[in-house]
Amino acid sequence: MILTPEYIFKTIECIHPDFLAAHGIKALVLDVDNTLTADNSQVLEHTVQAWLDEMRAAGIRLTIVSNNTAKRVRPFAERIGLDWVPLACKPFTIGLRVARRRLGCKKSEMAMVGDQIFADRMAAGLYGCPCLYLMPRTNHDKNKFVLLKRKFEPYWIDKYYQKGGKLYE
Ligand SMILES: [Mg+2]
Repeated sequence: MILTPEYIFKTIECIHPDFLAAHGIKALVLDVDNTLTADNSQVLEHTVQAWLDEMRAAGIRLTIVSNNTAKRVRPFAERIGLDWVPLACKPFTIGLRVARRRLGCKKSEMAMVGDQIFADRMAAGLYGCPCLYLMPRTNHDKNKFVLLKRKFEPYWIDKYYQKGGKLYE
């Protein structure tokens, strides 16, 4: 099912190069809000910077695909030196299609990294690439539609654990 997570990571910093190598993943498509930083925040935590450095050192290609506006995404993306797609309308797959062209890899070699079941996980499922689902970085969401979608996420997260899934931390 395209909504049940395939993997759940506690935070983005818990994704390590050895996991990616073991799963044949060479490129990551990164969400921003509650993934790389808090919702609508421009704060870059040093642990996230260290993680970006770790990924680059391992040769993992990175790009940003966000549903948020250019005004919000651009300063953060430029600060960490990544290309970006704003207004991606995940769960629609247009952002992932643009990202794959940029990353130049097969669908199976790229993974969507994000914190929303009904945006990130669903977009990856519809597109046919893996999703590394993350627990939201904070429990604060400003967007009312996101707050509504959050109410339906525990059902799919429970399914993951019922099937024997583990939390990567
Ligand atoms: Mg998000």
